[in-house]
Amino acid sequence: MALVSMKEMLKKAKKDRYAVGQFNINGLEFAQAFLLAAEEEQAPIILAASDRLVDYLGGFKTISSMVNALTEELNITVPVALHLDHGMSIERCKRAIDAGFTSVMIDGSHGSIDANIAMTKEVVAYAKVKDVSVEAEVGTVGGQEDGMVGGIQYADINECIRIVKETGIDALAAALGSVHGPYQGEPQLGFEEMKEIMDKTDIPLVLHGGSGIPLHQLQRAIELGHAKINVNTENIQAWTTSIRQTLNEKPNVYEPRLILISAIEAVKEAAKAKMKEFGTSGRGITINKGNGRVEDAITTL
Ligand SMILES: [Zn+2]
Repeated sequence: MALVSMKEMLKKAKKDRYAVGQFNINGLEFAQAFLLAAEEEQAPIILAASDRLVDYLGGFKTISSMVNALTEELNITVPVALHLDHGMSIERCKRAIDAGFTSVMIDGSHGSIDANIAMTKEVVAYAKVKDVSVEAEVGTVGGQEDGMVGGIQYADINECIRIVKETGIDALAAALGSVHGPYQGEPQLGFEEMKEIMDKTDIPLVLHGGSGIPLHQLQRAIELGHAKINVNTENIQAWTTSIRQTLNEKPNVYEPRLILISAIEAVKEAAKAKMKEFGTSGRGITINKGNGRVEDAITTL
């Protein structure tokens, strides 16, 4: 089926208290692994390209074509969104939309809230016409963001309320103690702040840095309005572990397929485990409405 925005996906997820996983593409094989995982789990999925990797991946059009073609060739029937993660500028968000991305994140969290809101508004205006969903960020996710290592800065509740009301975004990443990359010790998520943000904005929240967060904390975050959880680190660690093992065990192997095939399987299994943890499994059953359009009917298991 054609790619969809994440707007309806996240609304349903928030209502039924589960979260849709965002899985970052690090190459063709990752996209294959994630799509197969989603289909096997009958889970809706958000495939994402981090803006800092877009050029490495061959550019916006290449990514969009690849995901569209794979969805068709692999007969994927669950809802799939293609999202730009940490879009670095208005211009790059527009380029992603023009290339066929169905969702974008504009990351204006590094400037003032007024500048963030202004940037976000412009992206929303461009995206809405094309039925593309928009995510914005307030506060700072710890660890590596945009290639820079930074500290955690909690999202300000009033800034969250303002950006939601003034821009018309579909999802909000409110940084509340999560970290990109591995955690040092147990993550300390700000659940009190999370509850206040959920109560006052009523928007699907996005948890960045979803790798390595214990299940009970993930479940609490989902109860408190998180409808999207981003995962990258655990998948790329599964990938690298598998490749390292293959190369160690078979020092004479040189054919890429023989090296990568178990890595794809490892990433697929890692993604499936996350879908189960997030409660997304079984939520992406599709029905054909009989008018030539296939629409998603997310089940409420
Ligand atoms: Zn992030």
